[in-house]
Amino acid sequence: MLKRLDADAYTKGVLGGDRVVLSRAITLIESHLEADKPLAQEVLENILPHTGGSVRVGITGVPGVGKSTFIEVFGGFVTALNKKIAVLAVDPTSQLTKGSIMGDKTRMEQLAHNPLAYIRPSPSRQTLGGVAHKTRETILLCEAAGFEVIVVETVGVGQSETVVKNMTDFFLLLMLAGAGDELQGIKRGIMEMADAIAITKADGNNVAASKLAALDYQNALHLYPPNGSGWFAPVLTCSAVNQTGIADLWKIIEKHQEVTKENGFYDRNRQNQNLEWMHSHIKQVLEDRFYENKNVKNWLISIENAVRDGSVLPLRAAIEALAVC
Ligand code: GDP
Repeated sequence: MLKRLDADAYTKGVLGGDRVVLSRAITLIESHLEADKPLAQEVLENILPHTGGSVRVGITGVPGVGKSTFIEVFGGFVTALNKKIAVLAVDPTSQLTKGSIMGDKTRMEQLAHNPLAYIRPSPSRQTLGGVAHKTRETILLCEAAGFEVIVVETVGVGQSETVVKNMTDFFLLLMLAGAGDELQGIKRGIMEMADAIAITKADGNNVAASKLAALDYQNALHLYPPNGSGWFAPVLTCSAVNQTGIADLWKIIEKHQEVTKENGFYDRNRQNQNLEWMHSHIKQVLEDRFYENKNVKNWLISIENAVRDGSVLPLRAAIEALAVC
């Protein structure tokens, strides 16, 4: 393990946009070591006044929809505007399967070499709640390091979309034409969360089908009640291969910022996200404390068989476990 720096060195390095120090600061906040926590906290508090300035974009879609190819091209577009972009990932699969849907392949190779871009994989060995906290803190570090656009990517297969929605300003859903919602595993709730839907791979023989799909989704979105942001999610088609639709999408994101900043939703949303962050952290710590408690551990071991075979009511066992805590 690399020796830790002191809080001042992390702070100065991050604020100076030093990528090596930024990476080391992220490693510090991702650390599971108790000894690292006060230092991580201090660094985060030091950089806090320099955070909040980025456009936070969440991107989701099923494996194979074209997320990494899209982000590669989108990142190229944004950096061509001379803006710095950071790409973070929330990968819910790594904790379940040890492997990872998102991390195993070589991804975004060009963007990885772009001096205006920074790519950081999902924190490992964490619960989804843990990944969420670390990613939020990483957003702050990247903002302090001068990144103006932060993309948080996740696979659209479970709860991680909600997690990413809750830490971003703009949530983009990538969809395939002709695959059908069910086939794509996209639940209604996810469409409802989207600030825009982009039908990917709208190139070659797929152009007409993509346009039709865009119309279908646009009609479907009209059925959802407004979400209070004053924004109506547009549906567009794009192709990472032909690099079409990317500039349109960027315009949509800018427009979304403009509209929501003007009508107050932007600030309200970020304030609510901060509150949600605090509460979810409290829940996480309480849960960890509970399950790490020796009495609880012993009690659970002693009662599990009885709960499994149905001779003790699960609710009764839970109440008693809470009582021994
Ligand atoms: P992810 O799993 O969502 O990150 O998807 P990938 O970016 O890895 O893309 C999955 C496959 O779709 C790859 O074989 C890509 O080459 C292909 N693909 C991605 N974007 C496009 C596109 O715009 N047009 C076409 N025709 N293929 C694409």
